Amino acid sequence: MTRSSFITDDVRRYLLDTAGLDSELVQELRAETLNTEYPGMQIGRDQGRFLALLVELLGATKAIEVGVFTGYSSLCIAGAMPEHGRLIACDVSEEWTSIARRYWERAGLAQRIELRLAPALTTLDQLITSEPRESFDFCFIDADKQNYDGYYERCLQLLRPGGLIAVDNALWGGRVARAEDQSLDTLAIRALNAKVLADERVTASLVPMGDGVLLARKRG
Ligand code: CA
Repeated sequence: MTRSSFITDDVRRYLLDTAGLDSELVQELRAETLNTEYPGMQIGRDQGRFLALLVELLGATKAIEVGVFTGYSSLCIAGAMPEHGRLIACDVSEEWTSIARRYWERAGLAQRIELRLAPALTTLDQLITSEPRESFDFCFIDADKQNYDGYYERCLQLLRPGGLIAVDNALWGGRVARAEDQSLDTLAIRALNAKVLADERVTASLVPMGDGVLLARKRG
């Protein structure tokens, strides 16, 4: 379930079909997520697979997720980490993360995931002082768009050199490309894309997958 409008329906279906079948657990999670107010906020199966690939490529054992929602992306990230992996999952919604927690538990991944129920900017600031410097391998940002820049800057501080930030909704349904769209969310995403793609602290690429994923690898 993504809001991507950059590819035709048959290609989207093909991508989802070839991404493999959801496990029964994920099927249940998807069904339950459909009953929430924002079913479209869950990333697609193709994107879940992509996140898992990134985590494996990085050999990540320490990750952050900003924006948990009902927990599908955390399942993908934590599931791709080794047994001793640790995912710090930031969200403000008790309601949605209570769904997430049930599925983490059932997937046997609850030990790897630490939920922090607080504004993510606060949690990230705490991590900057409480965790060893530059010790995270991977950050996935998929939350309120107007704080994207604040999340990016903090995650960049927390990342090790060679670590990766992935930012979801970087194409925002195509609105970033429409100059007449001046909504605050669009402006925030457009500004972050421009900044990151010119940022000498990272090597970056905007990938038109799902609703757009902005990737930024921290340089050493
Ligand atoms: Ca998203």
